[in-house]
Amino acid sequence: MPKKIIIFFGPPGSGKGTQAELLAKKTGWKKISTGDLFRAEIAAKTVLGQQVEKYLKAGKLVPDKLTASLVEKNLRQKASGFIFDGFPRNRRQLKDLLDLFKKIIKTSEAIYALEVAVSDGEARERLGQRRLCACGLVYHLVYNPPISAGVCDICGGKLFMRNDDQPKVIAGRLKIYHRQSALLLDYWRKQGRLIKIDGEQAIKKIHEEIMEKLKSLKLV
Ligand SMILES: [Zn+2]
Repeated sequence: MPKKIIIFFGPPGSGKGTQAELLAKKTGWKKISTGDLFRAEIAAKTVLGQQVEKYLKAGKLVPDKLTASLVEKNLRQKASGFIFDGFPRNRRQLKDLLDLFKKIIKTSEAIYALEVAVSDGEARERLGQRRLCACGLVYHLVYNPPISAGVCDICGGKLFMRNDDQPKVIAGRLKIYHRQSALLLDYWRKQGRLIKIDGEQAIKKIHEEIMEKLKSLKLV
């Protein structure tokens, strides 16, 4: 059986991280998210982790080569499938990943990209309505509002907007996403390996659509 590989794409606010998590739970496939990998390596105090920490502490991007070694280490784990979230982000990382597949997976039979598509308007709407509390709870003024306006249900703290969610910052994040993902999505489309999912539905509905599409491709 070839290993199943699903690479998630989606703009900020698309909920792709949540969907990647749901898919991992349902299938038992291992989720590879570079953010999680960085945190795990740092916590385990490995040599790679110490290198990653140096870059993050200095406020620098972790170099692609280092990220690729971490991905390689995780790709060697025993699993019937892998789910990628947040990697690859650029052409260099795509090449690294394809090289790793050749080296480790040795088959390209079951590699698909999955795009959780959400319009910019919807992404702006979702992120712009997000409110946080210092205790860590996240609210949404439309989908998950606090009981009393502006105040955390649990700790009574004053809710605030993350700097990343300010309209100007959101516009910038969306622009970067489109610039980076256009090339990668185009690559998978040309390979006939792009699964597009309507991300403007309820979380459960999106998950169901993903499972249906994977079933029709005989991946689950
Ligand atoms: Zn709170």
